Amino acid sequence: MTEKFSFELQATDGAARKGVIHTPRGDIRTPAFMPVGTAATVKAMMPESVAATGADILLGNTYHLMLRPTAERVAALGGLHKFMNWQKPILTDSGGFQVMSLAGLRKLTEEGVTFSSHVDGSKHMLSPERSMEIQKLLGSDIVMCFDECPALPATDKEVARAMELSMRWAVRSKEAFGDRPGHALFGIMQGGVTQELREQSARALTDIGFDGYAIGGLAVGEGQEAMFGVLDYATGFLPEDRPRYLMGVGKPDDIVGAVERGVDMMDCVLPSRSGRTGQAWTRHGQINIKNSRHRDDPRPLDENCGCPACRNYSRAYLHHVFRANEMISGMLLTWHNLHYYQDLMQGMRDAIEAGTFKAYVADFHAKRAEGDIEPL
Ligand SMILES: [Zn+2]
Repeated sequence: MTEKFSFELQATDGAARKGVIHTPRGDIRTPAFMPVGTAATVKAMMPESVAATGADILLGNTYHLMLRPTAERVAALGGLHKFMNWQKPILTDSGGFQVMSLAGLRKLTEEGVTFSSHVDGSKHMLSPERSMEIQKLLGSDIVMCFDECPALPATDKEVARAMELSMRWAVRSKEAFGDRPGHALFGIMQGGVTQELREQSARALTDIGFDGYAIGGLAVGEGQEAMFGVLDYATGFLPEDRPRYLMGVGKPDDIVGAVERGVDMMDCVLPSRSGRTGQAWTRHGQINIKNSRHRDDPRPLDENCGCPACRNYSRAYLHHVFRANEMISGMLLTWHNLHYYQDLMQGMRDAIEAGTFKAYVADFHAKRAEGDIEPL
């Protein structure tokens, strides 16, 4: 354990990196996948189950928590770690992205964003200063700068304007964050799919200086090819000695492609959300448990998976509880999906360490191309 926040780069293989982020609440092994605990819970999972999948860190959403139960209430009850019974590190987003995607009646000015809650219509304001205050009240270990992610499709001019505003807000975020030993503040690169804007944004952020750098404004509908196109150059604009976080990504093949391009951290609702809609992710791709082919199948989702859903239950059972709308359906599939994602991260960390990452990626794609096992 350490009292400080620091990043240790342990191995590289091509552009892929393996490392550890040290924090007072524990180490985060990178490349890291962060399950999303939007409203102070990873839906359908107990926190100890999330930890059992191998997650070192969770993500919490500022926008949701400020509206309900409110950051002030969480702080009065001892902070987010105590409130939700998760003692490992927590990263909170800034609220900027979700305000633009979820809130009603938004008004954006240089100062910040005023908006009405999607829950009850009440009026609220988010600015760099207020976002830093909320994330501090929550007790977040990794705090994100308040930024504006422009809604797509957007013109180049609009993307440039939002990036420049985000860089001015990054200065204010850093100032408002202040000096908080053991806690980290990450800057967020914007600039859409334009290399020049990405480079300007990276330069502005590294001039300010942050504990880590996120790549924002991707995974918003531009498609995998365009996203990889940006990552091909964007990670190179960021300092080597700081963690790089790709926000809101993604599907397993997005994650592998991002790690290949030098990304260290990712988060996505996909494994937990899919778990609640009958979708499972395995080495062989995606399985739809609703499908009647599973009705009489005594085999596990994946015989090589060590999760409770695969060790103790058949496809037939998982199919039945989904069809019967039983809660255990979402619980087991979410557990499996999160376990699979963490297995994938561990496999990549091991391969980078061993210098066999290229072969690992080739095998990952080959297994997926095979598809699911044949029906009985
Ligand atoms: Zn499993």
